[in-house]
Amino acid sequence: MSVSLQIEKVSGRARLGRLLTPHGEIETPVFMPVGTVASVKGISQEMLEELGAQIVLGNTYHLYLRPGVETVRKLGGLHGFMSWNRAILTDSGGFQVFSLNELRKVTEEGVTFRSHLDGSTHFFSPESATAAQIGLGADIIMAFDECTEYPAEQERVRESMELTARWAARSKKYFEEHKGEVPWSGNGHVGTDALGRPAQQSCAPPASWRSPAQPGAAVPTYSDQTQSLFGIVQGGMDRGLRKESAERTIEIGFPGYAVGGLSVGEPRELTREMVEWTVGHLPADKPRYVMGVGTPEEIVEYANLGVDMMDCVLPTRAARHGLLFTSEGKVSIKQARYAQDAGPLDPNCSCGVCRRYSRAYLRHLYASNEVLAQVLNTIHNLSFYLDTMRRVRHSISLGEESRFLSSVWSGPKP
Ligand SMILES: [Zn+2]
Repeated sequence: MSVSLQIEKVSGRARLGRLLTPHGEIETPVFMPVGTVASVKGISQEMLEELGAQIVLGNTYHLYLRPGVETVRKLGGLHGFMSWNRAILTDSGGFQVFSLNELRKVTEEGVTFRSHLDGSTHFFSPESATAAQIGLGADIIMAFDECTEYPAEQERVRESMELTARWAARSKKYFEEHKGEVPWSGNGHVGTDALGRPAQQSCAPPASWRSPAQPGAAVPTYSDQTQSLFGIVQGGMDRGLRKESAERTIEIGFPGYAVGGLSVGEPRELTREMVEWTVGHLPADKPRYVMGVGTPEEIVEYANLGVDMMDCVLPTRAARHGLLFTSEGKVSIKQARYAQDAGPLDPNCSCGVCRRYSRAYLRHLYASNEVLAQVLNTIHNLSFYLDTMRRVRHSISLGEESRFLSSVWSGPKP
C-alpha cells in the first residue's frame, strides 16, 4: 500500500486533503521543512514536533555521501536514525548533482559526479539512486531526474525532458522489484532505531488508516506498507515540453507527481506560470508536489493553484542569516534599528520566540554570533511558514482561499 490522498474539500483550484503515509497522516496543502543531512539545521526533532511539522525532507545526495546509506539503513532507516516517527520524504539526488557539481557528466546510464566534501568520484543511476532511497527508508521517495539548467535552448530542454522520462521508467521498474527492502517493511527485514529498539515499534499503522471514510477497508499491516515513489515533471520553461513531460510521467504511473526544475534562476513570474500550467496537467486525485519553492506569498499562491506539497530551504536558510518572515513583512534582525526594540519579532505570531523574546534580544544574539540566534530565528521562521499553511487550510475549509492572501500576508516591506 502506498500513500493516498483523501481530498476533503475543493475551493476554486485549492484542495484541502489528508495524505496517508506509513508514518502518519499529513494535512494538505503542506509545507515540508528541509532536513538536508537528517537534521533541520538549527533545531531538534522535539522542536519540530512542537511546531507541528508533519513531514520533513532529507537529501539523498548528502546522506549518501555522509554518513552513507548502509549506516542509515542499519540504524532503522532515517526514521530510526534521526528518531523521527512522522513522515519523511527524500529527493533523488538529481537536484544536488545538478546544483553542486559543475563537473558532472551525464550519460544515458546516469550521472558521474564529484563529492563536494572530498572530490571523490561517484555515480548515480535511476537504479542506484532508487536503491539509496529504499535504504534510507523515507515514506515518499522521488524518481531520479535531470534538473534542466536555466536558461537552455529548446532542443536541449527536450533532450533533458526525454532523458528524465526514460529515467522515470527505470526508477519505477527498480522500485517495483525492490520496494520490499525498506528498513521498516514487514517482510522480515526490520531494522532497529539508533538505540537498538526495533524500528517497527515506532511506526505502527496510523489510526487514520481505519478512517470512517473507508468503511470496510482492511486495516493495513506492516507487510502491506511500502514507500511510495513519485514521478517528476521537467520540461524547463516550455509549456509544450512541460505538458508532454506530464503526460509521459503519468503514462508510467505514479502515486504522486512533482513539478521539478523550478527556482533555478528564472524570474518569479515564470516560476508561477510554469506551476500553474503544469499543475493543470496533473491528475486531480493524486498528490501534487512543487519542489523547492518558495516565499510565504508564493506558497500561499501555489496552494491556491491546487498544489498539495511544497518544500524550501528559504525559511531555515534565511533564519541563519538573520532574515525573518513576519505578518508585517520581512525583518532583517541584524539592523541597528532593533537594538533598543522591546517589542516582539511579530506581534501576530504565537510561536515561543515571539511570546518570550524581544527584537532587541534577537538582534543582540545575532550580532554576538550566538548559536541561540540561529535556533530562535529558525523556530520563528518555520513556525511562520507552518502557520501560514494552517491558515491556508482553514481558509480552504471555509471556501475563502482567495481572500487569505491579502489579509494575512501584506508582502515584504523595503
Ligand atoms: Zn514567531
